[in-house]
Amino acid sequence: MVDLKGQLEFIKSEVDQAMQEVMDDTSFVNGPMVKTFQSDLENYLGVKHVIPCGNGTDALQVALMSLNLQPGDEVITADFTFAATVEVISLLRLKPVLVDVDSKTFNIDPVAIEKAITSKTKVIIPVHLFGQCASMDTILTLAKKYNLFVVEDNAQGIGATYTHSDGSCSKTGSLGHISATSFFPSKNLGAFGDGGAIFTNDDELAHSIRGIVNHGMYKRYYHDVVGVNSRLDSIQAAVLKVKLKYLDFYNERRKESAVRYSALFYNHPNIITPHRDASCNSHVFHQYTLRIIDKDRDALVQHLNVNEIPCGVYYPVPLHAQKAYKDPDVIEENFKVTNQLVKEVISLPMHSELKLDQIDFIAEKLLEFLSK
Ligand SMILES: *Cc1c(COP(=O)(O)O)cnc(C)c1O
Repeated sequence: MVDLKGQLEFIKSEVDQAMQEVMDDTSFVNGPMVKTFQSDLENYLGVKHVIPCGNGTDALQVALMSLNLQPGDEVITADFTFAATVEVISLLRLKPVLVDVDSKTFNIDPVAIEKAITSKTKVIIPVHLFGQCASMDTILTLAKKYNLFVVEDNAQGIGATYTHSDGSCSKTGSLGHISATSFFPSKNLGAFGDGGAIFTNDDELAHSIRGIVNHGMYKRYYHDVVGVNSRLDSIQAAVLKVKLKYLDFYNERRKESAVRYSALFYNHPNIITPHRDASCNSHVFHQYTLRIIDKDRDALVQHLNVNEIPCGVYYPVPLHAQKAYKDPDVIEENFKVTNQLVKEVISLPMHSELKLDQIDFIAEKLLEFLSK
């Protein structure tokens, strides 16, 4: 699904040099390299504060911890996302309220959000799923109307650009009150291990978050709040600093591959290709995900595997049906889209090193199965 070896070859000498700098300097945690990467990322995203942390799940958890929520407060998020998004809500003894997604974009449905808002709702977490921006203008308007926080889960969307209804543009991760991202190796901006970051334009939230990731300390050995230990290693920052320079290039390569795939699948009766705008600016194709209509998706997975083509089903079970998050009073009618998508979706290899002949081969084998 990814080609981390191919990617490394291209940047190896730069990464080696940055890593050597860290080794010479020996500040392995929160060293100067972390500060450099942090300010590079602030400039890239156009956000005031980037706070690096240990991984994307921590980033989401710390974001929620900074909002002074009470047990039982409700947090609305998508039923169709990676479990980390909902896991942190439950861990903090908040109440996850899952809502359905849009069948075209796979992103959280603003109409479903508004229906789910109660007097206990405090936060909306939109996920820029598979690299495509959620409907942020509508979500931000809802948040204002009902006085809610917006925490973007930007783990899959880094580098995507959102175009507002007035035509102006913002990077994903700079739109909500807080944003969380992951630098897991397979993400669009991936380290050589775990890593994550929290973004915000709010000075007070940034101050609060910096303490929370450091054991609740604002002054050394004075613990004002209950915090966690979540840090980015300097070695990871060295890798990320180099890769950030190429992020737009990597994302462009992904878009080119997506355009090629979609051309090969154009107008096929059994395939719905990913929805995207003309420029693809709002989509960085963390995944290239098709819907397979009126054919056996699982048999297709088998067929691709037999042909040694990797593929993935993200995600096979809606969160509302997962054992850990099951609500006994669930109304299945409310999850029509997710319940359908989990049966139809398949993600094809997608990364910045994909070659045209590889895409053509993958498409050929997929079409071969559908013509049977
Ligand atoms: C990867 C991911 C996370 C978690 O990031 P980790 O660094 O693996 O903890 C959270 N949300 C989404 C949508 C993700 O894809």
